[in-house]
Amino acid sequence: MADSPRRYHITTFGCQMNKADSERMAGILEEMGFQWTELPEQADLVLYNTCTIRDNAEQKVYSYLGRQAKRKHEQPNLTLVVAGCVAQQEGESLLRRVPELDLVMGPQHANRLRDLLEQVFAGNQVVATEEAHIYEDITKPRRDSQVTAWVNVIYGCNERCTYCVVPNVRGVEQSRRPEAIRADLEALGQQGYKEVTLLGQNIDAYGRDLPGATPEGRHLYTLTDLLYFLHDVPGIDRIRFATSHPRYFTERLIRACAELPKLCEHFHIPFQSGDSELLKAMSRGYSRERYLRIIETLRGYMPDASISADAIVGFPGETEQQFENTLSLVEQVGFDLVNTAAYSPRPGTPAALWPNQLSEEVKADRLQRLNHLVNSKAAERSQLFRARGRGADRRSKSQRSDSGDGTNPRQSTHFLHRRYRPSERANGAGENYYSSAL
Ligand code: SF4
Repeated sequence: MADSPRRYHITTFGCQMNKADSERMAGILEEMGFQWTELPEQADLVLYNTCTIRDNAEQKVYSYLGRQAKRKHEQPNLTLVVAGCVAQQEGESLLRRVPELDLVMGPQHANRLRDLLEQVFAGNQVVATEEAHIYEDITKPRRDSQVTAWVNVIYGCNERCTYCVVPNVRGVEQSRRPEAIRADLEALGQQGYKEVTLLGQNIDAYGRDLPGATPEGRHLYTLTDLLYFLHDVPGIDRIRFATSHPRYFTERLIRACAELPKLCEHFHIPFQSGDSELLKAMSRGYSRERYLRIIETLRGYMPDASISADAIVGFPGETEQQFENTLSLVEQVGFDLVNTAAYSPRPGTPAALWPNQLSEEVKADRLQRLNHLVNSKAAERSQLFRARGRGADRRSKSQRSDSGDGTNPRQSTHFLHRRYRPSERANGAGENYYSSAL
């Protein structure tokens, strides 16, 4: 009788970058002959793709791991893997904490999963957290959707936001070549995918690490150039991108989004705080005024554009007045969605060491007030569009012009108006389609 196939389970924490990494790792495992199981307790290989943005996500991993480590004592053939940002941050010390682990691998090593597992199956305990050049995506990911696909275009981040652990764990920016990205899109179009979301921790930085300059002296490959290069890929009807950084969001990019037929008029542009002084303390590189100017320009080109964002409350030293500036920015912009979070000090980040930390009570109170405002403004916007007789159209322009199908386009999108469950509201840790490093 043939051996039954080995089964694997992946649990993913955190942002869409982790989700995209998990899809690629699942693709590698299936190429290796593993089969997916929903139930981690039935899996021969359990992989946790982890997030270290907030302490509670990290603690959850340890609790899940504890259960699997216990299981490994009864089932020594079980393979236990921790990937992602906690793996990168903790490295070998994770093995000391959970000696049952077989493999600890940082996000830059996701495409190397097969090689790393081969070392594990040869009897080694493996830690792969060294700074690495990201392998080109040669794997066919096991995608959760058959319609929409994530496509990484840039890895890592060169910013140094004072609250953020991402640059420590995901390394420096590494842009993929435009031809390789286009090849991915062409393959997706042939497989029947209709929509792609181009991903990067700071996607507006795309191309600045690639060689070449234009006669005007700008980088040869920018996100705007990439959008022009990709927009005619056959089969792909809708293109989105995330996450944008206000420091680099240009009018040229806005114009391209207004012009290109396949670009969806939805933008995820985290503001983090509505107070310029606090933004300086966060090292964000823009002011409240600059952020508002971007929104004004954007709405000048695309009046119905949907805008979502991320915001942090309770950053060290945040005064009541500074928090109110965040509220007033939310009031002024009219977001469709804001991912909110109370500041969580992360090891290895400058702000975690500052003496002016706020109490948990103050953070919780501000978070609740911000969530209340965000929800009521989003509901207002939704009502406004309903009253006008059509949803805010988040489809691509080409799709709109030829639809005539009588459907409500607001319902055709799955990006908006996702409600937090009450249990999430307490700490703002909702899981969202677009979330950058809170
Ligand atoms: S918040 Fe975003 S831009 Fe800032 S360091 Fe983190 S990943 Fe980079």
